[in-house]
Amino acid sequence: MTHDAASPPYLQVDDLRVRFSTADGEVRAVDGVSFGLHRGRTLGIVGESGSGKSVTSLAVMGLHDPARTKISGAIKLGGRELVGLSDGEMRKLRGRDVAMIFQDPLSALHPFYTVGRQLVEAYRTHHSDASKAQAKQRALDMLDRVGIPQPDRRFGQYPHEFSGGMRQRVMIAMSLMNDPALLIADEPTTALDVTVQAQILDLLADLQREFHSAIILITHDLGVVSQVADEVLVMYGGRAVEHGTVAQVMRGPQHPYTWGLLASIPSLHGDPEVDLKPIKGNPPSLINVPAGCAFHPRCAYAMKPEPCAGQVPQLLAVQADGHRVACHLPEQQRIDTYTDEIAHVGVAQ
Ligand code: SF4
Repeated sequence: MTHDAASPPYLQVDDLRVRFSTADGEVRAVDGVSFGLHRGRTLGIVGESGSGKSVTSLAVMGLHDPARTKISGAIKLGGRELVGLSDGEMRKLRGRDVAMIFQDPLSALHPFYTVGRQLVEAYRTHHSDASKAQAKQRALDMLDRVGIPQPDRRFGQYPHEFSGGMRQRVMIAMSLMNDPALLIADEPTTALDVTVQAQILDLLADLQREFHSAIILITHDLGVVSQVADEVLVMYGGRAVEHGTVAQVMRGPQHPYTWGLLASIPSLHGDPEVDLKPIKGNPPSLINVPAGCAFHPRCAYAMKPEPCAGQVPQLLAVQADGHRVACHLPEQQRIDTYTDEIAHVGVAQ
């Protein structure tokens, strides 16, 4: 997808840190994450649950409980700093400049109101001068645009009268009502079967071409990212561990955690019992993140105790332009290891 790389990114996140206090201790959910995203581009943020990927997107949306959450760093949207904005100021931006598509539309849509009423309200929140008729026309246009047949009839129906895939289309229509420049989709296809999942991903790609929005796609599935994203940010234990274009990360991944994610993508053609290789062990508790590289207890290549169990590896540029990796292994060793041991059994080619 084209974008003007010389212009500043529409979204620029710098050294984002998000912490929550809980009864068990402080959760260090995001720990120093930075990335930029231009309009017309899709960034996939990938990781297991507890990696910090959803918390990163909630910080961009300003959806944290301010009483329990400490956020530091910078989140610039269209040049405007979001960290420190009041809830009222964030509410004005949400829906208009940045909108979110949730994994479960049933919990995001109100069960007691018709889909049409919810779409109209979403529009009029940011267009107070629009008449009801104008808002309704916009809602019908968007329902049509996201591929819902007979929008006139569907307008008056309730969320439970839609199938899972159609509800997700309604959610997408809702998110686009105000033509936001940034769309955040959090596991938008996880609850859907493979065929509907592909249709929704195609729809998002089409809409992005039409609306030229920036999209952040949050997912645990690198296979989904490879279908629609331009760039990938892999997160683990609240930190970014690999960042690059889809081609760089899918064809020449350099982080052992990314290798694990790639090996756990279900193969379309193989026996999942045989082909799937889940990453051994569990993601770390974000209250008690392992010292050094957070992945070291699960990493087959860890050099212990030093440096892997003692020093946090920095996200550093590698030879390929724009590709960055946080791993203590020397770059050539990572390339050789991937080529010799991983690529031929991997499923990402
Ligand atoms: Fe493995 Fe060490 Fe690299 Fe972490 S820094 S991924 S533990 S080799």
